Amino acid sequence: MNKPKKRFRPIASDISFAAVFALFAGLCVLVYLYQSKAQIRHQTEIHIASASRDAAHLTYHIGLLLQNIDSSLEAVLDAAAHKPIQTETLRNTLASIPCLNSISLTDPQGKVIASTSADNIGRALDLTSLPVYPTPSGDLLRIGSERDGLGLAETAPPPDSAKQMSAQGFIPLAHTRIPTAKEQERTLVATLNSGCMLRHIAAIPNMPEARVALMRTDGKQLLATMPPDASLLMFERDIVKRWQDKSDEHADANEFTPIKAENWIVAYRRHESMPIGIIWAADNASLLEETLLAVQRNNMTIMLLMAVGMSCILFGYLFFRHANRHHRNWLSKIEKQRNLLENSLNACASSIVITTPDGIVEWCNPAFTEMTGYMAADAIGRTPGNLIKSGKQDNAFYAHMWQTILSGRVWHGELINRRKDGSLYDEHITIAPALDDEGVIQHFIATKEDFTKQKAARQELEIAHSHLNAVVENFPGSLIMEDLQGRIILLNQYIFELLGLPGTEEYVLGKPAHPLMVFSSHVAEDSQAFLDRLEELRAAARPSYGEEIHFKDGRWIERDFVPIRLHEHLIGFLYIYRDISQRKRHARELWQLATSDPLTGIPNRRAFFENIEHERTRLTRYPGDAAVLMIDIDHFKKINDTHGHAAGDAVLCHCVRQIRKLLRESDTLARLGGEEFAILLPQASREGALGLAERVRKVIEDIPLIYNDAPIYVTASVGVTIMSHIDPSADKTLSRADHALYEAKRNGRNRVEIV
Ligand code: GH3
Ligand code: MG
Ligand code: MG
Repeated sequence: MNKPKKRFRPIASDISFAAVFALFAGLCVLVYLYQSKAQIRHQTEIHIASASRDAAHLTYHIGLLLQNIDSSLEAVLDAAAHKPIQTETLRNTLASIPCLNSISLTDPQGKVIASTSADNIGRALDLTSLPVYPTPSGDLLRIGSERDGLGLAETAPPPDSAKQMSAQGFIPLAHTRIPTAKEQERTLVATLNSGCMLRHIAAIPNMPEARVALMRTDGKQLLATMPPDASLLMFERDIVKRWQDKSDEHADANEFTPIKAENWIVAYRRHESMPIGIIWAADNASLLEETLLAVQRNNMTIMLLMAVGMSCILFGYLFFRHANRHHRNWLSKIEKQRNLLENSLNACASSIVITTPDGIVEWCNPAFTEMTGYMAADAIGRTPGNLIKSGKQDNAFYAHMWQTILSGRVWHGELINRRKDGSLYDEHITIAPALDDEGVIQHFIATKEDFTKQKAARQELEIAHSHLNAVVENFPGSLIMEDLQGRIILLNQYIFELLGLPGTEEYVLGKPAHPLMVFSSHVAEDSQAFLDRLEELRAAARPSYGEEIHFKDGRWIERDFVPIRLHEHLIGFLYIYRDISQRKRHARELWQLATSDPLTGIPNRRAFFENIEHERTRLTRYPGDAAVLMIDIDHFKKINDTHGHAAGDAVLCHCVRQIRKLLRESDTLARLGGEEFAILLPQASREGALGLAERVRKVIEDIPLIYNDAPIYVTASVGVTIMSHIDPSADKTLSRADHALYEAKRNGRNRVEIV
């Protein structure tokens, strides 16, 4: 719904700006055009005023000059009433009047009779063609149009100054005195230098490139600064007509009249008393050339400033537009981030509550509703204390919580709170203060998790754990278990006593087992074998039971090794150690009982057979000889009968003691039964065996038993046989020895026989 609106806004703003921009640009152009026109109009008005002033000034100035000449000529004529006019007089008059080439006196027929220029004398002038103007004195004034040359003779070269200003020429001005009865008509003709006149005109300050025409009031042009334009001539004729009509005789008569689509500025003035007038005309376009250039320059400057201004506005707008777009994008991004955060918080499984610094709920997520039963609308505006406080925690608990979070730190804790339905629940809560840039607390954010079920499970787990601990502690043996990383994860107190380990259960739990094992290895008889075997067991990861280890202190320890698996995954190794020293001792005692003769303490018949069998096996591996001696006490029955059975026992023990003295460590003496003994001599030769047999016979014969302070003499018969690896069995060997003994008995007793 909002999308089109959002799109429309920048476009509408662009269109509005473009419209205002175009309007402003158009306004600027209009102002520019108006300003240009106004400037040109103003400049034109200035030119008109200036032209009018110049025209008036020239009319006055030239009129004054002509009046002056006319007055001077009249004065000469006045003086001539008393005496004839001398050339000298003419020269003096000429010298006093500027811009005159010559002054000449003519007779009534117009012939020059005296002149300041000798060349003029004799020249005939036709003055009758010129219009006549009466003067205030009653004389006649004639003004001729411009003629070539400097004088009436038209022979003299023009002065240098005149050459520079204008074409050679002069304007004749004739003053005629009407003849009276006494006098005849006389006329003085002055030639007015055109160049000098033009210089007067040019002397006007700031004279523009205008055409200035000195006109006679009858329309004859007397002098002009430049050739006339055809259209201007028509206009001049119109002006002369006005002069002749005398419609604006005394007016300034300024006019600005467009002629042939060209702008002309024309100013004219007729002299009040002289029959002359000035027409001042200039092409306004050329007059305005400089102004137009200035206007153009100004306008260029204005245009440039406008362009700069407009560019600034445009760039300003674009910048504003860009900044605005950036700002909108930024806002949109912030909005998206805000939505994402809110959605994330809403989707969060943990209950989240945001409060003011006073603890009033501002926001909560659906998980809070699920946990407590309170809807967001119920919670917002209230404090958690009003909502879910159960009273299970005392005031000191809450005081500590507030003290922590108000100091800007995060508080973690476990609470028992009450749901909307009145039931209690356990929650883990973390309250974090949200600070602004200046460190002032703006909000508190509480994250809660209901762990009622977990708490029950934890309690069950703790019970199970305590049971397990009891089992481990009461286990009839020492337990130690390590994980796959070699850390101790289980053990009981017995292990310390059994292996002589230092420390306590709590201290070693979680620590590497290896140092303890190294320590234990020193207790074992073979330390290196102990450690190597542990390595083997771990590497194989197969159960091993009943391994016996002999300790240096004489104890025997039995070890069970059990790899522990959880869901078929190996998680560690269990070692069970038991002290089996007593069992071993008992077994040894039983063995001794089974293999020794109780009267004499030497091996019995069974043990002797095992020894012989062992020796026979050894001989099959290391070929050589061994000897077996069989000894039987002669007529022993008679001893018993004579001295009693106890004396017989004492004789048996006495014989054993005597025989033992003759034997090596490796020799074995055994009682085969009754008064019959046997000796196994490993690595014995025939001679060696016979020698020992003889020494045995002799010691029994020679050393009597002192019994009840009386000697009891006995003898013994000895049968000898040599045992080799080729003997098929121990029985066979003993049979041969028995046979030898039989031979000794048969041959008289107390002797040695060998078979
Ligand atoms: P011979 O020279 O032929 O060997 O004659 P002998 O008397 O020694 O032979 P006989 O085998 O007939 O007698 C052995 C006697 O040894 C019989 C028995 O009373 C006696 N005897 C056997 N065992 C013991 C014992 O442990 N103590 C005592 N005191 N006498 C025993
Ligand atoms: Mg016997
Ligand atoms: Mg005997």
